[in-house]
Amino acid sequence: MKKPTIVAVLAVVALAGAAILHQQRSSKAKRTVRWPVMGTIAQVTLRGEGGGENAILSTVRATYDRLNGLLSAWDANSELSRLAAAGCTNWVEAVSDEVKPCYAAALKLADESGHAFNPYMGRKLRALGVGSGTYSDFDLGAIAKGYAVDRAAEELGKGTVPVPPLLLDLGGNLRVVGDAVWRTCIRNPFAARKPDLPPYVALIALTNGESVATSGNYERFIEQNGLRLSHILDGRTGQPTSGVAGVTVVVPSDYGAVLADGLSTTLFVLGPQKGAAFLAAHYPKALALWIPDTPEDPHLLATEDMSKRLEEISIKMSRLQTDP
Ligand code: AMP
Ligand code: MG
Repeated sequence: MKKPTIVAVLAVVALAGAAILHQQRSSKAKRTVRWPVMGTIAQVTLRGEGGGENAILSTVRATYDRLNGLLSAWDANSELSRLAAAGCTNWVEAVSDEVKPCYAAALKLADESGHAFNPYMGRKLRALGVGSGTYSDFDLGAIAKGYAVDRAAEELGKGTVPVPPLLLDLGGNLRVVGDAVWRTCIRNPFAARKPDLPPYVALIALTNGESVATSGNYERFIEQNGLRLSHILDGRTGQPTSGVAGVTVVVPSDYGAVLADGLSTTLFVLGPQKGAAFLAAHYPKALALWIPDTPEDPHLLATEDMSKRLEEISIKMSRLQTDP
């Protein structure tokens, strides 16, 4: 496996201009609709004028509801929970066709990452007082939302409803649908505790079919004896991870939001050095950045490709490079 090294401190650029209050910026008219689903918030932002909005939203809603009924580890009646209760081990063969690729991607990531990514963390998460594994030890919470976003994009692409450019967001898993550029902000994980810090560490422009996912320890975490522990466990040890405050991954359309989601969790566990080597070996088209959990010295580490895409970077950035 290629060995990554940090090669250069590239840039410290002050966040320009007025505060950026929203996740996307554009001069074109936009409408955003939000609703709660899959234990998080779904958001659809439509660009430009035109009708058909209700049909688009009902397509997306129906897709998320259907997938929740298949993949939820919270709902005892979901397909996942019922199969888990029945002691399922051959997941990919046992589950409905629509979700086979989600299980396959999760198990492949587990295998490739030496089980740093591990969908069998439900019991550990319950023991720590968190986790989506209310009923099942098998838990796709790290990848199901991204998968649902891909399926929604696919449904919209079937052509039954005219679709303007739009951005799907399901709990921080974003996918661009249609021909428009979306400038999205990468949040500063330390800003919630230190309001004097810039709210965003950088911007990135996403184009048709690209997806971005973020895993962080700043919104969901475990408080134990005054210590803040991550809700992401190291799948190799079952212990809460530490050292990383946030990871953001950008992938092209052939990887999909499912891999952006699965990879962000995997890279959170692996950390920047091993994570960059992992990407070079298995997912070379993915771009990633890590924000180490050092609030006293906020900085980010980006893969070479990611460093080229970032704009308006507001903290110190180092580039991670994998030796040829
Ligand atoms: P995400 O927000 O996509 O990074 O997913 C975090 C969720 O994934 C957690 O809330 C758990 O349900 C689950 N999880 C925690 N640790 C792991 C792990 N090592 N591998 C796979 N899933 C995990
Ligand atoms: Mg994830």
